[in-house]
Amino acid sequence: MPQNDYSAALAAISRLLGPQRLRINNLVERAKNNLSGMLAPRILATARPADRASLMALLRICREHQPAIAIWPVSTGQNWGLGSWLPASDDCVVVEMNDLDRIIELDLEQGLALIEPGVTQGQLAAAIADTSFFLNVTASAASCSVLGNALDRGVGFHGQRHRDLLALEVVLADGSELLVGGQAPLLGLRDGATLIPSAGPDLLPLFMQSNLAVVTRAAVSLRPRPERLAMVRFTVEASRLDAIVRVLHWGIDQQVICGAPRIYDASSRTVYGGAQPQTAYEAFVGVAGAEKCVEVGVKLLEAKLTEVEHASSVEICWPPFDDIVDPLARAVVHAFAGDPSQNDSMIRSSFGREPSQLDQASGSGWLTGLYLVPFNTKALLQARAIISRLASKVGCVQFHHTFNVLSRNTVDCVVGLRFDRSTAGANLARQALDRIAEEFADAGYHPYRVDNVGIARAMRHRDKNASSFGEVLRRVKYALDPVRSLSPGRYDPSSLY
Ligand SMILES: Cc1cc2nc3c(=O)[nH]c(=O)nc-3n(C[C@H](O)[C@H](O)[C@H](O)COP(=O)(O)OP(=O)(O)OC[C@H]3O[C@@H](n4cnc5c(N)ncnc54)[C@H](O)[C@@H]3O)c2cc1C
Repeated sequence: MPQNDYSAALAAISRLLGPQRLRINNLVERAKNNLSGMLAPRILATARPADRASLMALLRICREHQPAIAIWPVSTGQNWGLGSWLPASDDCVVVEMNDLDRIIELDLEQGLALIEPGVTQGQLAAAIADTSFFLNVTASAASCSVLGNALDRGVGFHGQRHRDLLALEVVLADGSELLVGGQAPLLGLRDGATLIPSAGPDLLPLFMQSNLAVVTRAAVSLRPRPERLAMVRFTVEASRLDAIVRVLHWGIDQQVICGAPRIYDASSRTVYGGAQPQTAYEAFVGVAGAEKCVEVGVKLLEAKLTEVEHASSVEICWPPFDDIVDPLARAVVHAFAGDPSQNDSMIRSSFGREPSQLDQASGSGWLTGLYLVPFNTKALLQARAIISRLASKVGCVQFHHTFNVLSRNTVDCVVGLRFDRSTAGANLARQALDRIAEEFADAGYHPYRVDNVGIARAMRHRDKNASSFGEVLRRVKYALDPVRSLSPGRYDPSSLY
């Protein structure tokens, strides 16, 4: 039981939101049923404000309570593989902002959307479907948020999503409302209370993967829609990862390819519902731009693939992609074009259930480790060797991995672990995640995004500078949130010292 008496505050929240928007009972069961098989913390309540005014009033009640009530804000709470909506520590009120789902403004001249936290990638992508802009979407469900994913440094088919954030409106622990982001003054956000930043340090990155504020609105940049696009698929044997590296380095250097190419290993193609693979890796590489450039670019890429050898099953996919039946390939090509509408069928074929049931229903569980790895053959083979070695040692857990190419020199290596939630699989998967972290750290590769309790694991493997990093964060946290009332434990190495 929590040591403090929160009953009066919870009653006030219930009056504010209406009892159906505050859940206090049966939370143990709800929390236990999470896709990642995480051990559930003790949760005070889940609160689902209907609009911005109720959110602000709810935050005020939590902040003014003595002692302050800790809150754990989520946008749509579908951080699957990383703990879903679960807080990192006990006795939080989880604030679910799903219903704050207004696209406040679309500026189709500048290519900007001003959104609330509950706006989903499916919703925003559909709202701009017939315009000259598109959204950088991920492979996750259409119902996933734009904002929560970007704040957690998610990865879309056109690169890291935090780079799409132009301005944020944040509420600090003391209730101050602040607008951050160098471009914020351009956005016409001139509410009485908010401070408009001008010259000086850009505070926006401080609120990504941090626990320093509740983000209440965001300005997101949209991408100019190319005249034409195509996706080139090809496969290579595991030992010939060098062929993929050479082709993609050439494509990036010569500006023939764009976006963040995805390279799936055989196991991930099966796990994500793709056709039974014949070869080890399948790469999806995008070409986009002016019509004639794309036609020429695709031909050049095809020629390069013949030249480097070892690439097989080369296929060019053109919109509207109607002939693609493989659920994984269908989702990937549509998502590259800014349309996440096919992701849900990929998830259905992968997990055998609706995205809305991923946490609740029993069945297969999923954990992920996300690492930055140099984009060269030696590093990719080394990452592969670590994963294969551990996979052969750990029974009951299915390992798979994907390389998302973020730049000429960096790859996001996603290691996925599938297990049966009804067995001891979750325990084994958690232990395997620790082993992966250890072996990747020994190779010099560190996670860039962790599950809700993963910061301790990540810091264990960091070098000696980690304690100075933790100390600086501790001071920033103390300055902004001395009683640790916001997302306690989230990406907070300072809590470990
Ligand atoms: C099959 C499959 C494919 C996937 N593919 C991808 C992929 O391609 N790329 C990718 O990045 N992920 C992927 N995921 C993982 C995950 O589902 C997505 O990242 C998803 O977008 C995260 O959930 P969300 O949008 O609901 O964010 P949330 O869970 O709402 O937010 C994430 C975290 O950010 C913080 N946060 C959220 N909103 C706020 C706020 N307003 N203020 C303060 N803090 C906040 C919270 O700590 C929260 O826990 C995939 C998952 C599955 C199952």
